[in-house]
Amino acid sequence: MNYYSLNKKAPNTTFADAVVRGLAPDKGLYFPESITPLDPSFFETIEDKSNAEIAFEAIKQFILPEIPEDILKTIVEETLNFDFPVVEINENISTLELFHGPTMAFKDVGARFMARCLGYFNKTNTNHVTVLVATSGDTGGAVANGFLGVKGVDVVILYPSGKVSDIQEKQLTTLGQNITALEVDGVFDDCQDMVKQAFMDKELTDKMQLTSANSINIARWLPQLFYYMFAYKQLKSKHSDIAFSVPSGNFGNICAGMVAQKLGLPIKHFIAANNANDTVVNYMISQTYIPKPSVQTISNAMDVGNPSNFIRIQELHNNDFDALKANLSSYSYTDEETKAALLELYNDYSYVADPHGAVGYLGAKDYLKENDAHVVFMETAHPTKFLDVVEDVIKESVALPSQIEAVMDKEGVSIKINSYNELKGFLLS
Ligand SMILES: *Cc1c(COP(=O)(O)O)cnc(C)c1O
Repeated sequence: MNYYSLNKKAPNTTFADAVVRGLAPDKGLYFPESITPLDPSFFETIEDKSNAEIAFEAIKQFILPEIPEDILKTIVEETLNFDFPVVEINENISTLELFHGPTMAFKDVGARFMARCLGYFNKTNTNHVTVLVATSGDTGGAVANGFLGVKGVDVVILYPSGKVSDIQEKQLTTLGQNITALEVDGVFDDCQDMVKQAFMDKELTDKMQLTSANSINIARWLPQLFYYMFAYKQLKSKHSDIAFSVPSGNFGNICAGMVAQKLGLPIKHFIAANNANDTVVNYMISQTYIPKPSVQTISNAMDVGNPSNFIRIQELHNNDFDALKANLSSYSYTDEETKAALLELYNDYSYVADPHGAVGYLGAKDYLKENDAHVVFMETAHPTKFLDVVEDVIKESVALPSQIEAVMDKEGVSIKINSYNELKGFLLS
């Protein structure tokens, strides 16, 4: 499969090249040249297939033959070696728990898949790739864990000193091997700015192949379409008219769901559940897209004022606003509403959610006020990743899962930096 740049000013290219580059040379996002629906029998018999079989069939058109079939099968199996359970909340609402991976963040799947693809491409070409990421917490851990030990790939993670939780810092700093954590004297935006500066620094990019590992990268974005199929597999015998409420930041996850829908998965509707960062909510009302600076919330993995994947969502709907409006609803919630939802889930349904999942739950409820459906909200992180907020709201302590406990005992290692020149010096050394 070849990919084109949504800016339409760069040549079309292969999957391998698009993964290694991240962004096209014209700074556009890559998009597949075609999306061919799967045979209806695939969905009719989906409950007879393993998750790895479903995933392989769903993604192979985007990747073969650049990665051979048998290797792609192995990549998919290794990526998905944990559970994706649907938990019923009530008659009309379920949650799909995406936090059973090694770092308990839903980004584990995309990070593991992308790491293995890059690892494969590096076997045949001995060029080293350096993955450079800025993290406000969750992305960094998933990327670090996903890329650990992958040959030919170095990972450099920038995080703001003192601004990530203890658990998140341990997940970033205790791995070693090909993973380096740089502790930046500053806030997340400083980390992000340094990363951007590095990508634009010709002296640096002439000397090394830098790439990103956020959802602009197709190898991190596309595998998220699996989630929707796994939910459907578990629910199809009980419910028709399934809709998804997706806590959204950069809109990579929900956009991948729309690819699953193009592949033929019967999805009635999408709900983008947002915190106070409401750029898309406003767009769906005004038809004018006005990016804004992000505001800080308790669901901080969604603090995004200019969602990078929204342009892919528009492309999937042929840039037709009415078509998009028929398929997508979007709501925004305050931190107070999010906390009330966490408490409601706990009191009424004995379910401990994290703040992102709670926003998804609110989206499900609002959609159901005017529509009939069974709505699945995505639980994108384990509640212990946001322990302070969750325990403060439900007034109970939440037990640490074994994955988290294992890193808490280890000693973290990081390198302190406080300027772009220090970052550049590190990368060139
Ligand atoms: C990244 C993230 C999101 C947002 O996902 P997008 O694909 O960027 O919309 C939601 N919840 C959690 C916990 C995340 O880490």
